[in-house]
Formats: sequence, C-alpha cells, structure tokens
Amino acid sequence: MIAADEGALRRAIVETSLEMERLGINQGTSGNVSARYREGLLITPSGTSARELDEKDIVWLPLDISDDAELLRLERPSSEWRIHRDILRARADVDAVVHTHSIAATALAIHGRDIPALHYMVAAAGGKSIRCAPYAVFGSQQLSDHALAALDDRRACLLAHHGVIALGENLARAVWLAHEVEVLAKQYLLALQIGAPPLLSDQQMDEVLERFKTYGRRNSL
Ligand code: 13P
Ligand code: ZN
Repeated sequence: MIAADEGALRRAIVETSLEMERLGINQGTSGNVSARYREGLLITPSGTSARELDEKDIVWLPLDISDDAELLRLERPSSEWRIHRDILRARADVDAVVHTHSIAATALAIHGRDIPALHYMVAAAGGKSIRCAPYAVFGSQQLSDHALAALDDRRACLLAHHGVIALGENLARAVWLAHEVEVLAKQYLLALQIGAPPLLSDQQMDEVLERFKTYGRRNSL
C-alpha cells in the first residue's frame, strides 16, 4: 500500500473516515484512521468528525515518536496515536489501522466479551475468536499495550467499554474487517436472544482458517 503520493493517501484517509460513517460503523468525533507512510504514519486529527475532516489536517508522525516529542505539541494527532504507532511498529503485515465505536461490537465490549467461533467469518480476523482487550482510559499507553496483546495473531479486537480496532494491508481491507466485526457482533447479539449459541469446534475453525489462506484467489477451492 505505502502510496508514493502523500496527497493520494491523505485523500484516502478522509474517504475512509466518510466510508465508516456511511457504513454506520462510526459516528461523530469517535474513531480514527491511520496508514503507514514512509518511516511513519499518516493519522486523523483529534476531535474532528469525518464530515469536517480536511486532508491538510491529517498528521504525519514518525514511527519512533515518543510522548515528549515537540511534534505532538505542534500538531493535533488522534488521542489514540500510541495505538496506531505501536501496531504499525509491531506488525509488518499491516499498513492500515482503523478504530471505531460501532454499536453492536461496543455493546459486546461493554460486557468484556470475546466474539467466539459462532460463525465461520470469525476466522476473517485471523483466529478462532475475536478477543476483547481489558479496559484502560482512551489515549493511554496502557490501552495500546492491551490492544496489541489482544491483536496477537489477529487483525481485529474489541476494547472493553470502548470499541473496535481493525487492521489491514490497506485502508479498504481494514474498513472491510471493521464492518465484518460489527456484523458478527449483531449476529452474536441476535443469536443470544434464544439461548447460548452453539459454536464451531476447533477442528472446524482450523478448516476455515486453512481455506482462508487461498480464499478469493484465482484457482482456489
Ligand atoms: P480522537 O478524536 O482523538 O481520534 O479520539 C476518538 C476516539 O475514539 C478515542 O478513543
Ligand atoms: Zn475510541
């Protein structure tokens, strides 16, 4: 992904924020978006809704930025810049990170529940469940540490009493996954209405994970 053209990537970040709102998975000034660029990341500014977002307000931060950097005083990156920095530092397999407060997934996160293997699409996030990271206050290093641990071997997680993080090799994939997590959360909440839902077995999920290695590619399946 790492677009050669910074302007195009800035526009793609604005478009991604608008798309999250169109999909109904984010609202108001909640959530944030970043993409890897050069030795750093382009990230949405703090406290700005998708509709008032302008590409020139997107902030570039180096991947090795620390808490006392002058840049943080001059610019106004998302309060969750630590999460975006830490994920892009730790995960060479992803170039984009989105964070949302989508309603159904957040309802589960309020209960601190992982999304178990209730549907095969849980494997789209990389494993047999989508974990819920423990609560820590927004914008904190502790929240970033919890998120990174919950994302081990995964491309999405819930944040207790807060929302969702989804990763992708590009912005479109990250938004796609954030939307899938919301759909799974809705399915989970509905299925719970008539009792504890039966789950797919470890073996069934292994089979799905194996198929996902080639799913959507030519000559697969
Ligand atoms: P920002 O507006 O600072 O990105 O914060 C929104 C948010 O969702 C914090 O978790
Ligand atoms: Zn948030």
